[in-house]
Amino acid sequence: MTTPSLELRRSLPRNGRLAALIVLTTLLAGCGQRIEGESAVSPGPLDRVMAAAAADTYTYALLSELCDTVGERLAGSEGMKRAVAWSRAAMIEAGCDSVWTEPVTVPHWTRGREWARCLGPVAFDLEMCGLGLSVGTGPEGIEGEVLAVRDFEELEARADEAAGRIVLFDPPWEGYGKTVQYRVNGASRAAAHGAVACLIRSVTDHSLGAPHTGVMRYAEDVPRIPAAALTVEDAARLSSMCRRGMRPRVKLSMEAELHGETTCYNVIGDIRGTELPEEIVLVSGHLDSWDLGPNAHDDGAGCALALGSAALLLKHDMRPRRTIRIVHFTSEEFGGHGGRAYLEAHRHELDHHVLAIESDSGAFAPRGFSVQADSTVVAAIADLTAPLARLAPDRWQVEPGGSGVDIGPIVRAGVPGVGHRVEHELYFSYHHSRADSFDKIDRGDLALNVAAIAGLVLAVADDPVTLRPHAAPGGE
Ligand SMILES: [Zn+2]
Repeated sequence: MTTPSLELRRSLPRNGRLAALIVLTTLLAGCGQRIEGESAVSPGPLDRVMAAAAADTYTYALLSELCDTVGERLAGSEGMKRAVAWSRAAMIEAGCDSVWTEPVTVPHWTRGREWARCLGPVAFDLEMCGLGLSVGTGPEGIEGEVLAVRDFEELEARADEAAGRIVLFDPPWEGYGKTVQYRVNGASRAAAHGAVACLIRSVTDHSLGAPHTGVMRYAEDVPRIPAAALTVEDAARLSSMCRRGMRPRVKLSMEAELHGETTCYNVIGDIRGTELPEEIVLVSGHLDSWDLGPNAHDDGAGCALALGSAALLLKHDMRPRRTIRIVHFTSEEFGGHGGRAYLEAHRHELDHHVLAIESDSGAFAPRGFSVQADSTVVAAIADLTAPLARLAPDRWQVEPGGSGVDIGPIVRAGVPGVGHRVEHELYFSYHHSRADSFDKIDRGDLALNVAAIAGLVLAVADDPVTLRPHAAPGGE
């Protein structure tokens, strides 16, 4: 059958995408009919999943509730405690047969109050946010002349100018993987040359005045200096002043503090399989977030999709042969502590894990799966989920690639992993900033993602033959 849904979706304004769902529902309703000379086919299980997802309101409501009633949920914070309680209650409510938490040791870091101001020669307030795990400035704050550099190469070339100054990294956006190095390593690279603080251009492609936080790390052998992100606009303005020879002076005040470690929790819910309950298909997202907003896309959406997809199958009497395990991981943002703790707690049963799925790319329109496993598994997943290509007819791909930070440890230990892939043009515009809020969630796109993930879970969990549990060689 032909599927005009994508072309229609492209022609719709973002807030009009619900119409795409109506198209999808209509198409699916016609699955059993003869269309344009094709032979008649009965709707298969994935057709049923897609039709059910098109009419589903549960996942959207779940994500809305998480954003409104829990909000910010930094690992180790009071918000994260609320999130764990919310997650447990939601898993029980959704019909999981067993729900439990597992402890994870995480950093206990607080932001406190913070501000920055350009004191002159033209004075203005800077929109900033401290980077995760940064030290604070002390109550007096830190004041210094700005040394703006484009990249590490320019810093090395001008190393003798850095002492006593605030180094600003203002690199061009070259994709997250490349540009994020200034956020992670900028402070120690600047401190190695005597800088007193580090500012970075937010790690984002586009900006409308919101700074973006994210984790940073200190090298062992250099002083720990405070590090913060500026908006793209403010970073560009300071850089431009420097190029004019204006020598801007900045004052930075941050109460940020690392209080050692604390205990946080992964939340886990099992939906027992009907025939092979000891074999597990894990579906996950990370429950922790940054503290600047409700983080609807990163990764409230992944948590809502993992639970919402499983709940959809239960609601429509599609409980599969194998067990579905929903995991809401903690402390992805501080560096993947929840994923490593899961590996340690479940080493003894890794060979019962048939597949691990993670959604941590936001809830934009789906475009397939990235499979971290050998080529026979990639081919098997592509084959089992082939009907889902209708969700994005000219872009759907199931291909080899990475899976997810949280499932990374068990995937490296031998469990096949799948990452949920979406259209990500807007993802980094919102990522780790106040702008990652629930109003950015498109209801139609979210429902298409429910179809994608519920379809994948059902296809793998209900097929006892194609994918077998893997013997795990041991891991990290
Ligand atoms: Zn994330």
